[in-house]
Amino acid sequence: MTTVTSVTGVDFDLPEPLLRIGGARVGAEGGATYASANPATETHVLDIAAAQRADVDAAVLAAREQFESGEWSRLSGVDRGRILTRVADLIEADAPTLAALEAVEMGKLYQDSVVGDIPAAAAAFRHFAGWADKLTGRTALMPDFGPQPRFGFTLRQPLGVLGAITPWNNPAMIAAWKLAPALAAGCTAVVKPAEDASLSTLRLAELLVEAGLPEGVVNVVPGLGPVAGAALAEHPGIDKVSFTGSLAVGRQIQSLAGDNFRKVTLELGGKAPQIIFDDADLEAAMPWIAMGNFYHQGQVCAAGTRVIAHESVVDSVVDGLVAAARSAVVGDPFEASSTMGTIVNRKQLDRILGYIEAGRSEGADLIVGGNRVDRPGYFVEPTVFRGHNDLTIAREEIFGPVATVISFRTEEEAVAIANDTKYGLNAMLYTSDLSRAHRVIARLRVGTVWVNGWGVPDPSLPWGGRGASGIGRELGQAGVEAFTEEKTVHLGL
Ligand code: NAD
Repeated sequence: MTTVTSVTGVDFDLPEPLLRIGGARVGAEGGATYASANPATETHVLDIAAAQRADVDAAVLAAREQFESGEWSRLSGVDRGRILTRVADLIEADAPTLAALEAVEMGKLYQDSVVGDIPAAAAAFRHFAGWADKLTGRTALMPDFGPQPRFGFTLRQPLGVLGAITPWNNPAMIAAWKLAPALAAGCTAVVKPAEDASLSTLRLAELLVEAGLPEGVVNVVPGLGPVAGAALAEHPGIDKVSFTGSLAVGRQIQSLAGDNFRKVTLELGGKAPQIIFDDADLEAAMPWIAMGNFYHQGQVCAAGTRVIAHESVVDSVVDGLVAAARSAVVGDPFEASSTMGTIVNRKQLDRILGYIEAGRSEGADLIVGGNRVDRPGYFVEPTVFRGHNDLTIAREEIFGPVATVISFRTEEEAVAIANDTKYGLNAMLYTSDLSRAHRVIARLRVGTVWVNGWGVPDPSLPWGGRGASGIGRELGQAGVEAFTEEKTVHLGL
């Protein structure tokens, strides 16, 4: 085991950088690896086994054999729930390590992961542990069929083998959002974490086994998207693909799944509006509005980067965002004084800078920020533009700390601007008028609305998008039932 010491002296162990297939920890076929790097220092962390097609075949086979054995899929719900509760306990106890693995690989603030992502991952396991013994069918009193009395009921059965493909921006939390409900339902899984942040998922897999999950229930195949991810998405041995990531890859996965008549859940990008009405409590709203743009350097699917403010408050909203940007401390993710960490990698940094350049060249008014920070590592200044909804920076998901402030006059206009996007993941609105809140909530074409705030989805309520933000729902009752098949039985008596 390799122990790493961060710049600020936080020590943590790296998990074995190997595939986890059945009970074995193995290298990839042909010894293939990929390099994990620290975006804050631009240095190499370690090489991780890169699963090839044959490795994915072996992992799917292990998950299938484990599913068919019934060791997990037919274990009582109470016993599955007990193990999942133990997983939640272990994640909470291991928060410093899990958070450090995410900070070192993808630049999220260590402290934000300790209090945010990792407890959210634990909460998903704790919540879905409670569902494991409550997934039941229903009964129906049926009319006699001729002389034959009948009784009808449904059986709710686990779906089978899950193929989970996850992004780098909240790796442990999103893996938990897929695994916890799937395991509660009795499924087994193969997980393909993102190449920019695989370590916390490998660590999570260790904790699952430590909690008592039989080997082979969760298999992990780190690897490159077009190789390991594609092999998993098109594998005939899986029953469902649950994908979180970009629109472009989501589209490919949807068409592969369509060809195979496979169930699929897609959690894709967003370009969420934050609508600020003239009756909003601005002092209370400003920290949320700023956080919705700059938290995790804007690398959040739910980021609220279209700040749509009433013309009477728009100047105050711009001032508030500028103040938040100026007071941000962009620095090493392990430093307690940092309030923003790094962009995940060089490619994403260049993409963000490209969008900032597009904002400038299309005539948006750059109010603050707009540059790479002059130090090693992929740091970007929090950036605020004033502009309109037709700018590239208002239409495309930037996945960086870049806000576009747009003003409106009427409620009608605010709703029209908010809905004028291909995405439909979430929206935020700030108002003290309850009737207005209800009116606007009803008209927003999104999966989730936050009123007077912004934050993390809760495991007890569904999460998912409309339009280009995806298909299906994760979390909540809908999320766990999506890992089951409901079979109808007509019983002749
Ligand atoms: P990405 O699409 O590049 O990668 C996501 C995963 O897909 C990775 O594991 C990657 O290796 C894999 N992949 C890449 N090419 C593949 C292929 N051809 N076949 C199969 N798998 C492949 O996305 P990303 O950059 O890791 O994540 C950022 C995106 O994720 C953003 O668009 C963000 O909005 C979205 N996201 C959405 C949610 C949500 O809940 N809706 C949450 C987090 C992130």
